[in-house]
Amino acid sequence: MKNIYLDHNATTPVLPEVADAMDTYFRKEWGNPSSIHWAGRGAKSALSEARDKVAAFFNCTPVEVIFTSSGTEGDNHALKGVALQKQPKGNHIITTAVEHPAVLKTCKYLEKTGFEVTYLGVDQDGMLSLDELKAAIRPETILISVMYANNETGTVFPIKEIGEIARANKVLFHTDAVQAAGKFPLDVKELNVDLMTISGHKIYGPKGVGALFVRRGVRLVPMIHGGHHERNRRGGTENVACIVGLGLACEIATRDMEKEVEHVRFLRDRLEKGLMENTPHTKLNGHPELRLPNTTNISFEFIEGEGMLLNLDMLGIATSSGSACTSGSLEPSHVLLAMGLTHEMSHGSIRFSLGRSNTEEDIDRVIELMPPIVKRIRQMSPLYSEETDGAAEITYSDKCNVK
Ligand code: PLP
Repeated sequence: MKNIYLDHNATTPVLPEVADAMDTYFRKEWGNPSSIHWAGRGAKSALSEARDKVAAFFNCTPVEVIFTSSGTEGDNHALKGVALQKQPKGNHIITTAVEHPAVLKTCKYLEKTGFEVTYLGVDQDGMLSLDELKAAIRPETILISVMYANNETGTVFPIKEIGEIARANKVLFHTDAVQAAGKFPLDVKELNVDLMTISGHKIYGPKGVGALFVRRGVRLVPMIHGGHHERNRRGGTENVACIVGLGLACEIATRDMEKEVEHVRFLRDRLEKGLMENTPHTKLNGHPELRLPNTTNISFEFIEGEGMLLNLDMLGIATSSGSACTSGSLEPSHVLLAMGLTHEMSHGSIRFSLGRSNTEEDIDRVIELMPPIVKRIRQMSPLYSEETDGAAEITYSDKCNVK
């Protein structure tokens, strides 16, 4: 049985050429890039070359790139760094209710330390309103942080327009581009962005490395204090091998973007159509057009996403569900709830995120295998009536039968 991986928004496999390039910096060029002797020189020039590649990815200058340990760190640094730097000027931040926890939980933390945060809602497609954004800006607003593309639904936000609004109001603008990287050009000048986060492992690079673009002139309080690394903006000896991998992954992402986007969009559309046509009671979550080309998020009514996920896993198919398992209890997705889905529909959602190695055979196998699994799970569900092919009537005694 061939395994089929449809969870590329969670992580992507490291490309063999990326792993090969990194290997040199574990085995041969293991020096500290801050050392001025022979052992450090190779590492230093690799760091500089990788910085050039990441800068080309952002269309910025190399000094505007800070290497981080992850997308999470990039988001934390952007939000806390701006908040602390700008505190004397204002204490208000605007974001959306559908951000990744790396942004949302950072905002929650900042609220506890005296900042005010406006969480903009989204419509049923997961899209925000630019008018609501404009209305939320106050004299004390110091930062707007809106993700480029949502990791769960793939909905893509109008970053260029948000950047124009931010600039017209003299407010800094950060975007979490972790999921958009490799699918859209990340031209920070074109997009009017002041800060942008990316992560290596979403673009076929290694885990535990990322980059934060910080526009020249924008000052941030550092999050990690230490040596003079990253021009005093982030202490800690650089993770040379992973940074080399990130640089190469950025270069390859740009080289292959057009071809890859076309490939995953074709397969994604085939999967979406096949699943929705062959299974009754389904709903597409996310914007119908303004969406990542590799992502489809579908709610299957009357089923539990986790059950579906486990059934698919037994067949070697890796996907992800709209529930997050937190301390043993299943939390429905905050993104789907913000879009107005019921808890049931949110629990019944599955995210399929495609990547460069998926094939038409993979997709056809999933289209063939899914409907009988859905049928079987529904037959076992107390919420579903096979007789009416709809919602079961739950009587009062059923509801009270929980001891
Ligand atoms: N932001 C978004 C939109 C993400 O999807 C993720 C990871 O899933 C992150 C941030 C965090 O990135 P990392 O896993 O590198 O910490």
